[in-house]
Amino acid sequence: AKSNGAASYEIFDAAMGAQALLQLEKQTDVRRAVERREFVVFYQPKVELSSGALHGFEALVRWAHPERGIVSPGEFIPLAEESDLIVRIGRFVLEESCRQAKVWRDRYGAHAPAVGVNLSARQFRDPNLARIVGAALEETGLDPNALLLEVTESAMMDDAESSGARLRELKALGVRIAIDDFGTGYSSLAYLQHFPLDMLKIDRSFVTELGRDPKGTAIIEAVSSLGHLLEMQVLAEGVETTDQLARLRDLGCELGQGYYWSRPLPQEEAEELIAKSFG
Ligand code: C2E
Ligand code: CA
Ligand code: CA
Ligand code: CA
Repeated sequence: AKSNGAASYEIFDAAMGAQALLQLEKQTDVRRAVERREFVVFYQPKVELSSGALHGFEALVRWAHPERGIVSPGEFIPLAEESDLIVRIGRFVLEESCRQAKVWRDRYGAHAPAVGVNLSARQFRDPNLARIVGAALEETGLDPNALLLEVTESAMMDDAESSGARLRELKALGVRIAIDDFGTGYSSLAYLQHFPLDMLKIDRSFVTELGRDPKGTAIIEAVSSLGHLLEMQVLAEGVETTDQLARLRDLGCELGQGYYWSRPLPQEEAEELIAKSFG
């Protein structure tokens, strides 16, 4: 029995080793992709629910893998978040998005769509963040109010005490700030009231429940009035159906994003969409 136990321990250990090795291999792949500049930015439209007008874009990173094609962020962002890789990828997305937004501003004027850039928890905690964002604005010459930074509710509330100062530091650059995936974390309303936020993005999970569960409807209604009371724009994520769109309008939500209008688009297709709306 004793030798048996030792043997199974060894197998367990070998399996753990293989796991760790695979993890390390993936890390190395992502690191190499950063060095080879294999990442690209896609843009998903944000739409005004009342008019259907294009309001802005969210920048969403993709890995243009030489063999696998376009790889979605779910496959590498969580991995990148375990190290400084996320800071390097994040910096690329920020700079590329600012450069693109500047092109659109120059072409279509002050009403050209603003661009939202996601910040991971690790980026948000980086003491150099405001300097990095400031440098991206300066280098591209982008008007700061054309940049929206999307920070998840859980990243903000993780250390709410210091988040306020961090948000004010960013706000001082003139950028706008969104609280992302709202409703999935645990917000302290006391903090929320003091954070300088411009947009509240209601998480897709609530939109999916619309029309299925009366409580889902009540939550969206409550969250949009909370957002408006705190003087934020309210956007619903993951809108896929006409029914959801109609309900969201009724509930007082003013902006939406989702496959109902469009999936995230490669840059050239995003440009075609802007040209149609503004050209
Ligand atoms: P997120 O910030 O919540 O972005 C919205 C995600 O929902 C995107 O997935 C988008 O394609 C997807 N989506 C939009 N509309 C619909 C819809 O109607 N139905 C469904 N089922 N999904 C919809 P994506 O592009 O795969 O990104 C996933 C997550 O990866 C993002 O969630 C964000 O957390 C992260 N991410 C993406 N790009 C970046 C980035 O540049 N930096 C950082 N830090 N994170 C990023
Ligand atoms: Ca987002
Ligand atoms: Ca989101
Ligand atoms: Ca999400």
